[in-house]
Amino acid sequence: MKSADIRQAFLTFFEEHGHTIVPSSSLVPGNDPTLLFTNAGMVPFKDVFLGRDPRPYVRATSPQRCVRAGGKHNDLDNVGYTARHHTFFEMLGNFSFGDYFKRDAIRFAWTFLTERLGLPADKLWVTVHVSDDEAERIWKDEIGIDPARFSKLDEDNFWQMGDTGPCGPSSEIFYDHGPEVAGGPPGSPDEDGDRYIEIWNLVFMQFDRDSGGTLNPLPKPSIDTGMGLERVAAVMQGVHSNYEIDLFRNLLDAAAQATGYADTSAPSLRVIADHIRSCAFLITDDVLPSNEGRGYVLRRIIRRAIRHGHKLGTREPFFHKLVAALDAEMGDAYPELRKTRTQIEKVLLKEEEQFARTLDHGMGLLTEALNTLEGDVLPGETVFKLYDTYGFPFDLTADVCRERGVTPDEVGFQRELEAQRERARAASQFGADYTAALDLEGETAFTGYDRLEDEARVT
Ligand code: ATP
Ligand code: MG
Ligand code: MG
Ligand code: MG
Repeated sequence: MKSADIRQAFLTFFEEHGHTIVPSSSLVPGNDPTLLFTNAGMVPFKDVFLGRDPRPYVRATSPQRCVRAGGKHNDLDNVGYTARHHTFFEMLGNFSFGDYFKRDAIRFAWTFLTERLGLPADKLWVTVHVSDDEAERIWKDEIGIDPARFSKLDEDNFWQMGDTGPCGPSSEIFYDHGPEVAGGPPGSPDEDGDRYIEIWNLVFMQFDRDSGGTLNPLPKPSIDTGMGLERVAAVMQGVHSNYEIDLFRNLLDAAAQATGYADTSAPSLRVIADHIRSCAFLITDDVLPSNEGRGYVLRRIIRRAIRHGHKLGTREPFFHKLVAALDAEMGDAYPELRKTRTQIEKVLLKEEEQFARTLDHGMGLLTEALNTLEGDVLPGETVFKLYDTYGFPFDLTADVCRERGVTPDEVGFQRELEAQRERARAASQFGADYTAALDLEGETAFTGYDRLEDEARVT
């Protein structure tokens, strides 16, 4: 079953069950400056859950494009290291705004997985929150889940939007990829492996947390769910890694061609294939590379991709060439991507040309520093020099260091940065006023995107 067919099957299934199909919103959340990117299917419905945005429906389903590359939900560092994390992915969701609750949410998910997709029950594993006896009863008595593939967990199964507001226990559904893959079941000491992969998260929005921390029952309990399309595609296509699904195989082939590096299992090619999706869609949604906020996150992702191409030996601009392959894969489902294709290519090529001027020298300096390093901490001065002179974002340097088992000294780096800003402030007293520019860069590069508190769910 192709990714596109799974997307369609999901939307059709929920439409048959009374849900209105709502198209994907932008990656830039509408009127929500507190949130960096749309990182879950519920984000466009936040105000509907809070009762502030009445809609003509009480059940909805959507395929939502998501980016998790900043703020609290940041999977950037997982990319290339796990089989299941992307910076950009599609979350398929069904939502109830004060209509159905736990029983139907669980029943819908189970029916879709086992009947519509035909997954064997003995490959699935379910978790609920420790306190949630009701969900446990539904799973065990009504669905008949095998108690040997069921566990009750704590933090992983409680979602909250922020310090206050709607929240509630959740239930996660995992697929067991079998004993050939390392890793234990959810809640076990070796759960961090990739054997049991979470495919769907059901959130039972049940409470409104007040500023004193008290959980008050919501007048209308609601449902928010999210199923990862790429992870389910891996299951349906009988492969373990998301990078082996139809869509990624084609992107990887394009990346191999553009870089001239043939081995498509190379982690760097996977990173590049991942990053082209977030970068292209962010540009489609009007984010442009810059030194602040969302634009700086985009620039960081682009530069990481370029660095991985460099690592494979590529010295010519290559990243923009992947847009054509992405368009071929996703342009039917996302006409907005197709429409902005030329613009995306232009923006990426310009970034590539700009970074090419310093990347090679920066990498030379970094490699030399790593080769002669005593111990396993890269000094803050080096990290700063790479940042200041060669345009290496902190996380790019950290990405290179990680490959060598080295940690960059972040505190030392911040100190250097602060010292530079001090110097600039002093200089500005003599008329050379570039303080503002440096403030912007310094702040936004290292605190700006963290400050944009991610208020969406942690599920
Ligand atoms: P994980 O524990 O694997 O990091 P999560 O609990 O953080 O996942 P949720 O916030 O529950 O994920 O998101 C709902 C669903 O979206 C997940 O069940 C998964 O299928 C999918 N998903 C989450 N993060 C990613 C990602 N970075 N890349 C691809 N799919 C993802
Ligand atoms: Mg996660
Ligand atoms: Mg999880
Ligand atoms: Mg989850």
